[in-house]
Amino acid sequence: MSQRFFSTKSPQQFVDVKEAVLRSLPADNGLYMPEKIEPLGKEFWKNWREMSFAQLGYHIARQVFRESVPAEEMQRIVDEVVTFDAPMVTVKERQHVLELFHGPTLAFKDFGARFMARLMEYLTRDDEGLLTVLVATSGDTGGAVASAFHGVPGTRVVILYPRGKVSGLQEKQLTTLGGNITALEVDGTFDDCQRLVKSAFLDREMSEKMNLTSANSINISRLVPQSFYYFEAARQLEEGASPVFVVPSGNFGNLTAGLLAEKMGLPVKHFVAATNLNDVVPVYLQGGNYRPRPSIQTISNAMDVGAPSNFARMQNIFGDQWEEMKERIAGYAYDDEITRETIRRIQSETGYILEPHGAVGWLAAEAWRENNPQDDTIVLETAHPSKFLDVMEEELGQGQIEIPERLARLAEREKVAHEMQPDEEMFHAWLQDFA
Ligand SMILES: *Cc1c(COP(=O)(O)O)cnc(C)c1O
Repeated sequence: MSQRFFSTKSPQQFVDVKEAVLRSLPADNGLYMPEKIEPLGKEFWKNWREMSFAQLGYHIARQVFRESVPAEEMQRIVDEVVTFDAPMVTVKERQHVLELFHGPTLAFKDFGARFMARLMEYLTRDDEGLLTVLVATSGDTGGAVASAFHGVPGTRVVILYPRGKVSGLQEKQLTTLGGNITALEVDGTFDDCQRLVKSAFLDREMSEKMNLTSANSINISRLVPQSFYYFEAARQLEEGASPVFVVPSGNFGNLTAGLLAEKMGLPVKHFVAATNLNDVVPVYLQGGNYRPRPSIQTISNAMDVGAPSNFARMQNIFGDQWEEMKERIAGYAYDDEITRETIRRIQSETGYILEPHGAVGWLAAEAWRENNPQDDTIVLETAHPSKFLDVMEEELGQGQIEIPERLARLAEREKVAHEMQPDEEMFHAWLQDFA
């Protein structure tokens, strides 16, 4: 049977996998969800602990996409995505960290972006012309998307980023790949970049002629591979253990992927949502009031989100019942000062180096453990410390953070970007030529 997808705003209407993945956002502004997610069967549980990470991922992906993607294609896709590990490190007794930063751009977003790229390639294999992915970025997402689509046949990517507003290394990630990746350096803000991208989608003729698609973080295909590593983590504990997953959260995609893993039968004792001062979800879990608001800037900036986009999916999973959600998810929020202090403290106590997002998670895990000291807590460490070098060196001093080879090498490569004014007509004219 194929999988069907519905919008959280119209649960009675279904689209197929191609529409859900290529359209990304339903017309009614809801979010796509798979119609049926069932627990994995006996056969799976008999040998899930012995499988390779990629094999494990294959079974999970099949459970979600079913016959919408043929088995051998899904196997190939997952094999191409899962080419690096997600090791779990025990930092203190029963206090674990799951390192999700061993991919090409050193953050967990590599899993989702790489899966989405290959799935899009598969879904458009019989279409005429290239698939053009348009993406506006304020930093990290663009790098993960560029790397994920780089060299994927039948696809090309146009990235818009605001001049002078992304870090030097981030800019290199966007502008040095070449091939099917094109960077536009916009003389404006991130909001300008987003406006330009939107205007291209609104131009139906252009949108159809260029096979435009967006690779934004709410795409359902990005969530699915994020479920893989919840299984991968759980099986690194002793048999029968039921971990508490602590998830540093911004748009809550990672946490939603954990909820999907649980629906597929993974034993989870509890979920803990950890945020910085952008604490809309922890506040909701406390009192049942959901009040999105403008974001506040922090040192864990990938979590500076005031209106988390996956909240609608979480609500859908819990049938819009606050009581149910707060039974399964605990929420904690921390400011920069204690986050910085935690980076220093854990390094000096254990030698382990947490980056700011992981440190927020660590604090939430400690809060949880106050009442549950016997639990195994697993903090998702979402990025490599070298991505936040300034903060890390302020806290730990220079020379403490190892810069991975692949990041260091980027610094030497030459930037290639086209300059663009924040002007819709100019942008459309450029796209016409590009097409
Ligand atoms: C994107 C990101 C997050 C937040 O993840 P969500 O799925 O949006 O909650 C946390 N840490 C890092 C390093 C990220 O890049």
